[in-house]
Amino acid sequence: MSSLFDLPPLPQVPVMGSDDTFPVRRIFCVGRNYAAHAAEMGVEVDREAPFYFTKTPWAICHTGSTIPYPLETQNYHYEMEFVVAIGKPAFRVGADAAMGAVFGYACGLDMTRRDLQLAAREKQRPWDLGKDVEDSAIIAPISPAQGFDIAGQRIALSVNGEVKQDAHLTDLIWSVPEIIAHLSRFYHLQPGDLIYTGTPAGVGPVVAGDVIEGTIDGLAPVTLTLEAPE
Ligand code: MN
Repeated sequence: MSSLFDLPPLPQVPVMGSDDTFPVRRIFCVGRNYAAHAAEMGVEVDREAPFYFTKTPWAICHTGSTIPYPLETQNYHYEMEFVVAIGKPAFRVGADAAMGAVFGYACGLDMTRRDLQLAAREKQRPWDLGKDVEDSAIIAPISPAQGFDIAGQRIALSVNGEVKQDAHLTDLIWSVPEIIAHLSRFYHLQPGDLIYTGTPAGVGPVVAGDVIEGTIDGLAPVTLTLEAPE
């Protein structure tokens, strides 16, 4: 037997200070993980358990890219996020052991067709059209976990140089080990899995011509430029 056609290779993310690359397997995204962002979206934070949506690996888009304003939306939003890169298998791990599965961290953008996400939410439908957008999982090079302390780091985003989001990683409702422990009850987490851990308050729309820059202290920044739609 032979394959009918070839697929492109999985996306690879550069690793800081190395020639190595990190191949992407799955993309998990945490919803409503900062209280102020949940409030601005008009929803309550669920303190019982985190929830997730996913993007396909093909949604990966490298920092520094210029992309067309996406299809079928009038309200494309930025969401700055702290991304966790899984480097070792994790299945039914406790929060105390969860950090052993982490390879590193990166700045990421969970770009969102907000109009379609909210329309789906209204009708109690899945969020895929709003969230699993082509080129919507922007990611900067991954920094190895050794030497990076999550506590207290500032997470911020600006559009055309104007600060829109400004918070700290200590504002996360569900911490990184809590998220990994919880996800590992439902999935056999594997090397190559990425977790976008949610966005702080201050989300908003972009238009063609806008330049987005997201930063987290101690990590490589993530940038994205929007151009005219196709
Ligand atoms: Mn998000």
